[in-house]
Amino acid sequence: MPAFSKIVVASHNEGKVREIRDLLAPFGIETVSASELNLPDVEETEVTFEGNAELKARAACAASGLPALSDDSGLAVDSLEGAPGIYSARWSEDETGARNWKLGMTRVHEAMTEDADGVKTARFICALTLAVPSENGTMQTHTYLGKVEGKIVWPPRGDKGFGYDPIFQPLGHDITFGEMESEAKHAMSHRSDAFTQLITAQFKS
Ligand code: IMP
Repeated sequence: MPAFSKIVVASHNEGKVREIRDLLAPFGIETVSASELNLPDVEETEVTFEGNAELKARAACAASGLPALSDDSGLAVDSLEGAPGIYSARWSEDETGARNWKLGMTRVHEAMTEDADGVKTARFICALTLAVPSENGTMQTHTYLGKVEGKIVWPPRGDKGFGYDPIFQPLGHDITFGEMESEAKHAMSHRSDAFTQLITAQFKS
């Protein structure tokens, strides 16, 4: 088991914080979110999911002195050469900078229609970084990358989950993540894939 009982979830995205809380609950680890601690939003300046996840976990760990778990994730569409990818959140922003999931889904759909070659395959990708403070004032980071394969459907279906869930249908299923109960999504998602790797490496000794 880990040597800590409280962790900062280094995200201001309520959907992600909720999913990470659910995933950590069975391990009896108390969670506090970056918003609850009033931690500033971190600018994502790296060009990979792993780089941005590490940036966010390091910042939350340094600011709070607590172990921090961050998630950098997004949707990669094959016919868009992996876009929106690390810019998935940005594709959902309106002119005021507010996130509007419907706008993000419409942009993906329209970009796919323009570039259409009939390929609808896509995957969600999630990098999770755990940053743990050590006694000498430095910190250790551990990063895990998870994926789930699927395809893009249109129109969006379902009002569960968050983000691009209503247009993503995981491989082997005929409902979207937006139509799936959260337990079913947790059993197969990119986030739970990365999380399982983290649990195996960090919490099972
Ligand atoms: P970031 O990691 O905060 O830069 O944002 C990731 C973005 O990817 C989210 O705001 C969503 O738009 C999208 N995303 C990541 N994971 C999921 C998911 O599980 N379902 C739906 N959309 C997701």
